[in-house]
Amino acid sequence: MYPIMLDLSDRPCLLVGAGQIAHRKLVSLLAEGARVTVVAPTVIEPIARLASEGTIALHERPFADGDVAGAELVFVATGMQTIDRQVVNAAKARGIWVNVADVPALCDFHLPSRIQRGDFQLAIGSAGHAPFAVRRLRQLFETKFGPEWSEWIAAAKRFRQRAQVAKLSPADADGAFDRWVGSTVDESTLAVRMPTAGEEAAWLSGNPATKAGRVALVGAGPGNPGLLTVRGLHLLRNADAVVFDRLAIPAIPLDLSDRIEMIGVGKEAGHHPVPQEEINQILLALARAGKRVVRLKGGDPFVFARGGEEAMVLRENGIECEIVPGVTAGIAAPAAAGIPVTFRREAVRLTFITAHEGGAPQVRWDLLAQDQHATLVGYMGVSNLAEVKSALMAAGMSGETPAAVIERATLPDQRSLRTSLAELPDAAQKAGIKSPAVFVIGSVVARAVALGSNPPRPLQGMRIAAFLPACTVALALQAAGAELLVAPRPLTRAARVVLAATPPSGWLIRSRAELESLEPERAAGGVLGSPPLWCGDAALAQAARQKGWTEVSVLDGSDGSLRELARRHAR
Ligand code: SAH
Repeated sequence: MYPIMLDLSDRPCLLVGAGQIAHRKLVSLLAEGARVTVVAPTVIEPIARLASEGTIALHERPFADGDVAGAELVFVATGMQTIDRQVVNAAKARGIWVNVADVPALCDFHLPSRIQRGDFQLAIGSAGHAPFAVRRLRQLFETKFGPEWSEWIAAAKRFRQRAQVAKLSPADADGAFDRWVGSTVDESTLAVRMPTAGEEAAWLSGNPATKAGRVALVGAGPGNPGLLTVRGLHLLRNADAVVFDRLAIPAIPLDLSDRIEMIGVGKEAGHHPVPQEEINQILLALARAGKRVVRLKGGDPFVFARGGEEAMVLRENGIECEIVPGVTAGIAAPAAAGIPVTFRREAVRLTFITAHEGGAPQVRWDLLAQDQHATLVGYMGVSNLAEVKSALMAAGMSGETPAAVIERATLPDQRSLRTSLAELPDAAQKAGIKSPAVFVIGSVVARAVALGSNPPRPLQGMRIAAFLPACTVALALQAAGAELLVAPRPLTRAARVVLAATPPSGWLIRSRAELESLEPERAAGGVLGSPPLWCGDAALAQAARQKGWTEVSVLDGSDGSLRELARRHAR
């Protein structure tokens, strides 16, 4: 189907039929300024009225072949097959385009569902085959595109004229148009705003100095995507560049637009692949180039994350900087393990410390050890648990004090263990606890309500990747405890970053088109490599094997196939 938008003003159109459906067509044709003639033996009142007002020509009689003469488009809405055919034959004989309501097979053209906001029009079609789906989609878009889109498209038209007057090169004009749309449309909500004259002038001048870049230091939370703030998500979606730490990766939305530059500066415990000074320079350079930058950090940007230093460098250099707090691991991890960090009459003080200070020791373990009614939460401490224990016990804290360590809190493979201060280092070592983890020391640990209380689910710890939209099988896997990573198709850069850092246990594939979307990754030995494929049926699995995928199985969502998956997962 080839879409086309016709200017019908003053064009002669013939409408055969004069019932309710014909009336609806008539109204939309008249709205476009068409010159309409109606032919029908019986006519409903509103159509008769239009004729008596002189708005349309009306012939109250049966259709005759000669009626099509002079019409440029013919519409039929009689509901009677023999008449439909007669009109279609008459129109075709004269090479006139014809549309028969509700009979796609007889149509030369279809009428899309549409929404209209001034010059902005969105037309949705299904080649006439699924009007119900199209109608519902239109209702959905009706709510998404408010009346302000009319003003927006008018402003876009004016901006285009200004760009033409300014005689920009095609590349500069493209850049200005990117800016214009990127700054006036919120991608996730489809909210629009009108740009100011000053902004438009800056975008047209193309001079980076006049484009105000800005940086937001955004806390990504402890990793679970649901714990990123609404403000953080909004800034991410509207950014030009995202500079992210390793701990923040699992919280990155997979469907972030490919328009956004993704820059990993992967700080990990112990070694800093990109030195802080260099990170500062990257942020400055991006902001000076007029970009909207999100500096995405795990947890909260100001808690043991050097966010304060980054903000200071930006402010000293005159760059606007917004701070968006995040759920810090010291709050998230105890909560995820069921430990209430304060408790009436029991713990009235909460202390966050880093057990990995570097340089001369500054933590006053002696003071902390004396406080019975407090909770101590330690970051970056997995390798220092023995020192922490010795320092606290040497200063008088009881070895019986309840203690816990929580690894990869809020992520699907979260682990936690509860013990006493005296046992903490050995217990953590025996369990093989690794960074990132926080420890909690204090009586509240004994209050943990959830530790060990949720029986493990059969697919716990499994990560499953699937393409949008999530299907029933994917949801069943999720219900069985697996984590679901829902990726857009084609894969975005953001999706590659997240999937490479947290490789899925397998991909759920439901169609050839989905298989094709993964194919370049496999063929190029891309970052996603060749993960196991779980195909919706045997034919698809066969197609995947032929392409060279090695680990292929069928997962049709039946109870049997899910049980089999759980069995394999348990091994
Ligand atoms: N700004 C971060 C902390 C960065 S320091 C925040 O506010 O959370 C890195 C330390 O944070 C890790 O060594 C670990 O102690 C802790 N951490 C971060 N994410 C964690 C998680 N998901 N589970 C447990 N600890 C985490």
